[in-house]
Amino acid sequence: MTLLLLYESAKRLLYDPMTPCDHLKAGSWPLQIEYVFNSLITFADALVSCRHCQRQYLLELLDVRAHERLFRMSTADPALAAGLLHNLNRGSCDLTRANAEFAHFKNQCDQLDTLLWVDGKGPAISGLVPVNSPLPQDSWQTLPCDGAWFEKLGLRR
Ligand SMILES: [Zn+2]
Repeated sequence: MTLLLLYESAKRLLYDPMTPCDHLKAGSWPLQIEYVFNSLITFADALVSCRHCQRQYLLELLDVRAHERLFRMSTADPALAAGLLHNLNRGSCDLTRANAEFAHFKNQCDQLDTLLWVDGKGPAISGLVPVNSPLPQDSWQTLPCDGAWFEKLGLRR
């Protein structure tokens, strides 16, 4: 019983799914891209992982200002991510299926109350931006992407 409690608290210390890992620091780019679902010049919606701790995140483009981007971030469950990649990498996956797989996966990810602010030149992380209001859940393809979120959150160049 004690061991189990220790194990549970250690697990929480190692991995709080609602907090991004400490490796996501301004000025660095610790992320590697695992799968690009769609792109706008570079990736727009993608599954990425941290090179240091292998934690996986779903990034979804929310807004664009020149070469800067804001992404919604979700923690991706490793088993679900592995299943998704397995299904998508099988040759038989057509576009409709791929979109359905993406939607299903997205629904099972825990969205963080933090946006990832990225300078596309580099690329490099510009910052992690806490948000305390509900975020639109639409795809960037139907969002204005006019820089309004940068203004709203007071993100200066
Ligand atoms: Zn990490």
